[in-house]
Amino acid sequence: MSLTEIDRIHALLPHWVESSRQQCSYGKVASYIPELSKSPIGALGIHIIDASGHSVSAGDTEISFTMQSISKVFTLILALMDIGEEAVFDKVGMEPTGDNFNSMLKLELVQPGIPFNPLINAGAIAISSLIAGASSTEKSCRVLDFLRLLSNNDSLSYDLDVYRSESDTANLNRSMAYFLKDNGVLEGAVEDVLDVYFRHCSISVTCADLAQMALVLAHNGKNPLTGEQLIPRRYVQIAKTFMITCGMYNASGEFAIQVGLPAKSGVSGGILTLVPGRYGIGLVGPSLNRKGNSIAGVALLESLSREFDWSLF
Ligand code: GLU
Repeated sequence: MSLTEIDRIHALLPHWVESSRQQCSYGKVASYIPELSKSPIGALGIHIIDASGHSVSAGDTEISFTMQSISKVFTLILALMDIGEEAVFDKVGMEPTGDNFNSMLKLELVQPGIPFNPLINAGAIAISSLIAGASSTEKSCRVLDFLRLLSNNDSLSYDLDVYRSESDTANLNRSMAYFLKDNGVLEGAVEDVLDVYFRHCSISVTCADLAQMALVLAHNGKNPLTGEQLIPRRYVQIAKTFMITCGMYNASGEFAIQVGLPAKSGVSGGILTLVPGRYGIGLVGPSLNRKGNSIAGVALLESLSREFDWSLF
């Protein structure tokens, strides 16, 4: 009997995790959010799930970490579901920036003064203001409920230490938000919008939670385990396109060449990626490379993509 691909992944993964883990010592954990500096620098874990619910995991998959920028993919989708494409892209553009995720540079330089895309901080803060809800609490509840649905995990919640740590120190994001308000991009009170943003960034997950969310994107918005269409196909297409063009910060081009899959990383060291039509993948490795992506995680995904010929290109 020949081995299926998932059997081969199962056989190879523990070894690859251990060899990729060696990269951790060449990176650094994020420290600009003070609480994140406590993340375990040597950790690396990955969980892969297929359409029939078979899963493979290796490494430190028991650790919880905050979604950070990975949550931006899903707030974008929720805003699209709430108010549609035209209203969303009236406030946020569709182009990569070439600048850091927290840069304000082009907001003033390039007209009409709207953020370049929904995955940089300025764009994601604008998206937070577009989520439907009568108050910031209601908006935050809707985001959390949406992620609970996609991850099939009703106990998903916030890491309040990380939430407070970011909210107390986010001078740059705060200045960006006030600038956006002045430009007429933000709806509502600035501090309320920021609260929605800090909360969704601080949602605590495991690799398995991310893999479940990614599985829905891999199946164009349908949960293949239940057959339920959770997200309209068009909005998944938009989200996956942003993941390819801007999901891995300023290394998105390099990642497209070396791995060739839609992905989104966060400063906590998480990466959500997927093999279209097949797998959802969640990974964590808090030691980051100079571009802000998990150093060992990227190495591991490069090995997997090459071995199993997963690149879309
Ligand atoms: N909450 C983080 C921030 O705004 C998210 C950054 C990221 O993961 O890229 O700085």
